[in-house]
This record gives sequence, structure tokens and C-alpha cells, in this order.
Amino acid sequence: MLDAEFIRQNAEAVKLNCKNRGVSDEAVERVIALDGRRKELAQKEGETAAKKNAISSQFKGATPERREELRKESSTIDAEVAAIAAERKRVEGERDAALMQIPNMTHPAAPVGGEDANKVVAQFGEPRAFDFKPKDHVDLCEALDLADFEAGTKVAGQKFYFLKNEAALLEIALVQYAMQTAVKAGYTPIITPDLARVEVLEGIGFMPRDPNPDTRQVYTVADTDLCLIATAEITLGGMHRDRIFDESELPKRYVGLSHCFRTEAGAAGRDTRGLYRVHQFTKVEMFAFCTPENSDAIHEEIRALEEKIFQGLGLCFHVIDTATGDLGGPAYRKYDLEAWMPGRGTGGAYGEITSTSNCTDFQARRLGIRYKGKGFKGTKFAHTLNGTAVACTRALVAILENYQQADGSVVIPEVLRPWVGKDKIEPRK
Ligand code: AMP
Repeated sequence: MLDAEFIRQNAEAVKLNCKNRGVSDEAVERVIALDGRRKELAQKEGETAAKKNAISSQFKGATPERREELRKESSTIDAEVAAIAAERKRVEGERDAALMQIPNMTHPAAPVGGEDANKVVAQFGEPRAFDFKPKDHVDLCEALDLADFEAGTKVAGQKFYFLKNEAALLEIALVQYAMQTAVKAGYTPIITPDLARVEVLEGIGFMPRDPNPDTRQVYTVADTDLCLIATAEITLGGMHRDRIFDESELPKRYVGLSHCFRTEAGAAGRDTRGLYRVHQFTKVEMFAFCTPENSDAIHEEIRALEEKIFQGLGLCFHVIDTATGDLGGPAYRKYDLEAWMPGRGTGGAYGEITSTSNCTDFQARRLGIRYKGKGFKGTKFAHTLNGTAVACTRALVAILENYQQADGSVVIPEVLRPWVGKDKIEPRK
């Protein structure tokens, strides 16, 4: 979330930013009013508490009758302070709820506009020209016995699946390959919990308490304060909640493996076939904590690693500098990689395979992640960044569709062969 004081001092810029990002700016004035009220109450709380000190100092040497009077005055003040504090907390809660409605500020170079303004900033490879009619990944999975969508639906519902045979091995291979690449680049490997507390999700920018399922997007676990995570960004960011780093410890880079669970409410009718948009998938996620001076450079580093991973897989893809209207709440700047998927749409289309965001101090403020250093007093909020190393089912779609052969087989990308144990998926006899 943004700082309430920053919002007060930059109200017009914050409103313009809301407009550019396609969200209502109605919460801006509400935050300013509520924060003003909170400050008044905090001051009153302090002044009232000071009165109590004055009373306490009169106890010494007072007559027993006077002491009794002072005791009564003191407990009246205690009750007043408690009432003011309760009101201050209520106002603070309302202010924080309003703050959650306001998105992060935006990198000055991010394209302004809706999805149409997304800008292709790099291209790797060209879409493959086929001399036969390519199948989509669902038909390939069926022909090669690589997934069971019927069993997935029977066990857990639509958009669940079982991966089978080489597809199961390919998922493990993708995890290994992405993890190894990030570890070689200095990222610490982590396996995270698949569940997290509501406050951690809120700190990252999710809204698990939102009554609107379309914006909630996550599954909550009945009778607990836990949610199934939508991404390891949640758990990796939450890992250092309330931590004060020494500047010399930063940047900290992690690469985490988790399952991801998404309700995909609001996406009804989109990508209903196969593995592209599912309720559960496995993902390797990069995450970094750093100082504000480093976050732009680390964002470029994460983007370069994503490019390296997908170049290594031999896929055709491009990089999108995401426009303001598509940034979501926490991102200051976001790059998406989109791979060419021959079976997508009619005649093939690009589909998103990774996303990397610089969230500046938007997540750290809510999660209390700070650092101290030599050149300044007190503490500052760290910056946080995240990026997909590999989202397994999307990568599988791209690999199966791009590596299919006229004879119905699928060649396995060279870098994955050590973990799959073969170089080709042949039709089963
Ligand atoms: P996000 O955390 O939303 O930026 O997503 C990270 C990556 O996960 C995306 O770039 C996709 O490759 C993948 N992904 C997102 N949602 C889904 C989904 N419902 N099913 C499969 N993969 C997904």
C-alpha cells in the first residue's frame, strides 16, 4: 500500500495514477480524511495520557482523602484514554481498508492505457512454420496419453487434471531446469508452504476478504485464517514479514517452488480447454528484497533470467512492457513474456508464460519489511520484486505445441532431456 502521508502531499498525482490504471480514485480523499482524523485522535490520546502523569505526581504527600479523589480521577482518565485508543484503532482500520483500494504509483516509462497500449519491447525467435496441420496441446495430450482431464474433473472439478507419463516427468524437469538456472544466478532455493494467512495475502496485494469472488481470486480454508496461495510470491514475500534487514544483507534473492491455486472467477468462458487456465498449477517463482536504489536493475535482471530460461527451452516468445491499465494493484512496472502457441486461437497466438513485477515498497510497507543503514537514521522500507521462472502448465502447452512432429511425436527440448530420460515422446503402441 502507499503511505497515507505521501497520498496527502501528492493527492493530484495519486488521482491521475488511479485514472491511468483504470481504477476509481474515490478512496484518495477518504484516506486523507481518515488519516487526518487518526492524527487528531492520536494527539488527543497523548494529551489525555499526559494528564494522568500529572495526577500520579500528586500522590506523594497527599492526604488519604485526596488520594482517594486522585484515584477516581485517574481511573476516569484511563477509561477516556481507552475509548480514544479504540476509536483511533477503528479509524486506522478504515483508513487501511481505503488504502488497499489505491494502486502503487507507476514507473514513468510504463505505457499509459489499457491492454491495447501494451508494448512489445523484445522478440526472441519466429513462430514456427508447419508443413502439416498442428494439433493443440489437448489433442496432443489425448493422442500421447499425457493428461487425464476427465479424471481431474471427476476428482476435483472442471479445470483440474492429472498429468501422466512424460508430461508428469516434463513438469519435474521444468522445475529442475528453472531452479538450477536461478540457483546458478545466485538465487537461494526454497520450497514454500502452499497455504498462508489472510494478512500475508493482504500484504502482498490480494484481497481474500473481498466479498466479490471476481476480485477475491483465492480459495479460503474453512474454519481457519488460511488461504491456498495463488503464487509463491505470497509466501516468499511473507517469509520476511516484520523483518529489519541491515543494508549490507540486501539484495536477498530467492527462487521458490509451490503449487498455485486460483479460483479464476471472472474468467468463465475463457481458455476453457486443457492446461492453459487451470485451478491448480506448479510454479517456480523468483523473489527479491532490495534497497530502492537497486530495484530497477534487479527487475531487469529477473526479466533477463526469464528470457534465458525460455531461450534455453528453444521457444519463440516476446516481451511486453505492460500498460498502466493492466498492472494490477502492487506493480510499479511489469514485464510479461508471451510464447507463441500454435494451437491457441485459430492459427496460433501468443500466450502469457511469465510475469515479473517491481512492487517498490508497496508490499513491504504493509508487511513491515525494512532495512537500516549507515547513511541515514532509523529505517526505510525495502523494495520487493517477483518474477515467474516457470509456470509449468503454460510451459507444457508451449513445448507440446511447438515441438510436435508430423508423425505425431513430440521432441523433448534438449535442456530437459536429462530429467525426462528420453529425447522424444512417441505415440504409444
Ligand atoms: P501471475 O502471478 O498472475 O503473474 O502469473 C504468473 C504466471 O503463472 C503467468 O505468467 C502464467 O504463466 C501462469 N498462470 C497464471 N494463471 C494461471 C492459471 N490459471 N493456470 C495456469 N497458469 C497460470
